[in-house]
Amino acid sequence: MADQFKNHIDGKWLAASSGKTFENRNPANRDDLIGHFPASDTADVDAAVEVAKKAFAGWRLVPAPKRGELLYRVGEILKKYKEDLARIETREMGKILKETRGDVQEGIDCAFYVAGEGRRLFGETTPAELPNKFAMSVRAPIGVCALITPWNFPLAIPTWKLFPALICGNTVILKPAEDTPQTAGRFVEILNEAGVPAGVVNLVHGRGEDVGAALVRHRGVQLVSFTGSAAVGREIASVCGQHLKRVSLELGGKNGQIVMEDADLDLAVEGALWGAFGTTGQRCTATSRLIVHRDVSKKITDILVARAQKIKIGDGLDESVEMGPLINQAAREKVLRYIEVGKQEGARLLIGGSIYVAGSCANGYFFQPTIFDQVKPNMRIAQEEIFGPVLSIIEINSFEEAIDVLNGTRYGLSSSIYTRDVGRAFRAMRDIEAGITYINGPTIGAEVHLPFGGVKDTGNGHREAGTTVYDIFTEWKSIYVDYSGKLQKAQIDNAE
Ligand code: NAD
Repeated sequence: MADQFKNHIDGKWLAASSGKTFENRNPANRDDLIGHFPASDTADVDAAVEVAKKAFAGWRLVPAPKRGELLYRVGEILKKYKEDLARIETREMGKILKETRGDVQEGIDCAFYVAGEGRRLFGETTPAELPNKFAMSVRAPIGVCALITPWNFPLAIPTWKLFPALICGNTVILKPAEDTPQTAGRFVEILNEAGVPAGVVNLVHGRGEDVGAALVRHRGVQLVSFTGSAAVGREIASVCGQHLKRVSLELGGKNGQIVMEDADLDLAVEGALWGAFGTTGQRCTATSRLIVHRDVSKKITDILVARAQKIKIGDGLDESVEMGPLINQAAREKVLRYIEVGKQEGARLLIGGSIYVAGSCANGYFFQPTIFDQVKPNMRIAQEEIFGPVLSIIEINSFEEAIDVLNGTRYGLSSSIYTRDVGRAFRAMRDIEAGITYINGPTIGAEVHLPFGGVKDTGNGHREAGTTVYDIFTEWKSIYVDYSGKLQKAQIDNAE
């Protein structure tokens, strides 16, 4: 009998009110049933929002440094269970243990980083324009926040949202992706162990169309923080627009790595391999376009092909494996469709392009590392997010052309350039249209104390992490204290 997992509402573990469940299976081995999770609906969302609303009344008054102490405890407990969490993640979403350990570490870093903010959350004081008047601005919590998260960073992304939301005094409802519910459940257990009060963090499992959409529509939810696909982000933004609800969106990417003719090619190859095939290409910051100067394109392509062919594919729980499976059948079908699109568009398939079924892999959603060259910048495989281990090589003739090609998609999340020319590096930092730019590093490697997010269709202008995340989870309030004992009328009293 497989394990039965529950929602967490008001400090209690509860089944969906309908009693319905959904299955979660290991993408490396479909016979491995992880368990049954609540297929929640509007009734469960209503209950969670009601509880979060009540809890907000008390939580917003807990001094922020105290809320910070709690997050320190969460960080310590996450450290204690790092290996346990990494194994849960790998089993339910497939990426290799090295990477899931990194994912948990990002959560730990985030806990300690945000905990310190409990003693900052700075506002401003400024002179008032009238005598005997004091002026300041402070941050205020917003209320009940819905946190809707994807499966590719099953712990890190919930922590990026939840810790800042809590330190600012909000209460939350976490709706994790259907493919990674167990990591989210374990995370909430850890929050409980640290002493988060009942009702402050609630967890509701279920389908995006049911639970996610109900949260977005709910009048009691003041803010939606969403990470996922651009298609769903658009839908969420339009509903939030109707309700004048706060909404922050972290969406897709079509990230490019430029390699100039003066680059350290070995370094550039290491970066491209990690960027394109790490997490089986299923990162919002994955390198899906390699924009290479024609003088070095043959050399770099040959090395890349040789190296990519050697990548060891298999179950991520095996320490020797370098690339795990795709997340599910739909993802594998999508990648296969793009392989056909690439061929029809006239790109040349150099390696891969097929599902991978050797040995025990026949039972999972494995895919071969795939490289196309002769890709033109406007081809669909160079424009649309594939979210799989597929790298498109685009040849360019100059630095200016490289920047134009890099900028020529609707997304703008991460970017990278390999060059030894400091002038080119600085021009790239200025001219690349992206939220993140790496010089001589791959498109992957964000740290929690710098802003994270993208321009154009990658989001709606917000940045998670860094100090910018607190602007998502607080409202600014301006306060004027008049101790003159008389009515002062600002601009009117000040007029000449
Ligand atoms: P997705 O959009 O399918 O799902 C994300 C979450 O939204 C899930 O929890 C899902 O259940 C929920 N959802 C689905 N439909 C919904 C609806 N109608 N209303 C409300 N919620 C709904 O994305 P995914 O497949 O889980 O993740 C992959 C995508 O996420 C990629 O596009 C990737 O680039 C993006 N991503 C972006 C970042 C970033 O920070 N920019 C980070 C990781 C992933």
